Amino acid sequence: MSTETTSSPRPAAATRPDASRPAPKPRRTKGEGQWALGYREPLNANEQSKKDDNPLNVRARIENIYAHGGFASIDPGDLRGRFRWFGLYTQRRPGIDGGKTATLDPSELDDEYFMLRIRIDGGALTTEQLRVIGQISVDFARGTADITDRQNVQLHWIRVEDVPEIWRRLEAVGLSTTEACGDCPRVILGSPVAGIAADEIIDPTPAIAEIVERYIGDPQYSNLPRKFKTAITGHPLQDVVPEINDIAFVGVEHPEHGPGYDLWVGGGLSTNPMLAQRVGAWVPGEDVAEVWAAVCAVFRDYGYRRLRTRARIKFLVADWGVEKFRQVMEDEYLHRRLTDGPAPAVPTRSGDHVGVNRQKDGRFFVGLSAAAGRTTGATLLQLADVVEAHGSSRVRTTPMQKLLVLDVEEDRLESLTQATEAIGWSARPDAWRRSVMACTGIEFCKLAIVETKARAATLIEELETRLGALDSPITVHLNGCPNSCARIQTADIGLKGQLVPGPAGQQVEGFQVHLGGGLGLDAGFGRKLRGHKVTADELGPYVERVARAFVADRADGERFAQW
Ligand code: SF4
Repeated sequence: MSTETTSSPRPAAATRPDASRPAPKPRRTKGEGQWALGYREPLNANEQSKKDDNPLNVRARIENIYAHGGFASIDPGDLRGRFRWFGLYTQRRPGIDGGKTATLDPSELDDEYFMLRIRIDGGALTTEQLRVIGQISVDFARGTADITDRQNVQLHWIRVEDVPEIWRRLEAVGLSTTEACGDCPRVILGSPVAGIAADEIIDPTPAIAEIVERYIGDPQYSNLPRKFKTAITGHPLQDVVPEINDIAFVGVEHPEHGPGYDLWVGGGLSTNPMLAQRVGAWVPGEDVAEVWAAVCAVFRDYGYRRLRTRARIKFLVADWGVEKFRQVMEDEYLHRRLTDGPAPAVPTRSGDHVGVNRQKDGRFFVGLSAAAGRTTGATLLQLADVVEAHGSSRVRTTPMQKLLVLDVEEDRLESLTQATEAIGWSARPDAWRRSVMACTGIEFCKLAIVETKARAATLIEELETRLGALDSPITVHLNGCPNSCARIQTADIGLKGQLVPGPAGQQVEGFQVHLGGGLGLDAGFGRKLRGHKVTADELGPYVERVARAFVADRADGERFAQW
């Protein structure tokens, strides 16, 4: 869940990252609360809270006080602030309609239960870890489990009394919720096919492990101006949405030095969406953690802390330009020059990895899709059994809300795909099941205005019936509010939840439509069509009309974003 707001014009920067672009004119440099310029006094309540007490210290209070005293014993500053550093958000009290989201005091929206986000760096899980998550879901989360579009798993209905036991079980198998939310380095997105893909340029596994080992939970990096999102891939399909992360390392072959990474900074959605820009530097695998820490430290020290809506690194990068950003990073933090490097090739197709694909060792990985990433703890337990029964012990979550099963022998593929299909995870999903994503929505999110997850499942069924398979998939992303947790600006059809006029003039749940967004070859943000709003009840027929018009009008080979 995010606390940002968004507007979505197609921005000037909506092109592939380009280090040769002239730097935008510097704007305000004073009074933004930048630590490096001497502004150490907090300029808003969030900054004050972080200064009062490092949020990482809340863990001891959860274990020693709140888990014994229950919800009523929680200090409000911890409840709505520092708890996030351990992946805990209060969830929405059931029965409050979306029209009241903006008018009620936050305390009136709070339920006494929490959403708990488990970070899964690189999306890499063993079946033992999958089983532990599934059992926690069954024992403590009423069976809920959502695969998010940042490779995490989110549980709901968590009681603070149960959090220490949940941590004990997670940590016994090497999992954690540390810095899963909050103004800190969030989960590291990693290529779901790291180390196994035949066409991989470089395996990001060691770099991800080193960042997590050295810096996650380190108080030096736990008070940033805002969230800090990282993506690392060595795969040519750039399968971690690098364009919209605060920092991204994208695999590229340097003509002299060999495989390494191209460094991008400053991407992000929500308020003023911006695509990441190439810094123009090539980073060898063994230097990724050091360079990551340098970029993070520039953000910590120079990032804007006065206004939450301008606190993401993208605003600093946009104001400075990448040349100045690179110079400050090299001069003040790395104390050396980085090697210039080439741009990676632009991927020509989606990197969701759904279906059966051969690994470089001759075995196969199988990409599975469920409706908008929704699953259950019981299903995760069944999935662990199925995967092990087919000779594997590794799965991966993906940034597209999918799951991959690794290391499957050819003669077990058919049996595996039948078994996963039976529990709702398909290796041959219909195009709509594959391309519809949804955020948490009103079921649990306090910021939501409309329902999303169940609506996405219904929409998929409706579109499968009305339209059947499409030869050119159309991505449909649903958000429950103006934030962008489901990345609506990067979808062919992006749907931003809001109240809209109903047939009798009354306000009903509906969506503002954005059309023509994309990443990779079609990187750019969807256009918000003025007056293009659709009620939730009309969503299926609306998407059908758009899809039919595209199919009827398109030129040979034309993709939706070009249409
Ligand atoms: Fe994010 Fe959806 Fe909640 Fe809005 S409703 S904050 S988009 S999860």
